[in-house]
Amino acid sequence: MELITQPRSKFLRVKCNDCGNEQVIFGCASTVVKCLVCGRTLAEPTGGKAKILTKIVSVLE
Ligand SMILES: [Zn+2]
Repeated sequence: MELITQPRSKFLRVKCNDCGNEQVIFGCASTVVKCLVCGRTLAEPTGGKAKILTKIVSVLE
């Protein structure tokens, strides 16, 4: 159980827990976002803001 607050309508730089790839994703993605390198699921939609399933490196305003 982890509680992570996600800002709305922002881009997040995340780092894949598995392969270390960093990529930028939308903070309220409406589709499942996968790592471009290994295919791990990084975020999934929850009917609003995305649930981030990996490490957030920074928030881009
Ligand atoms: Zn990966």
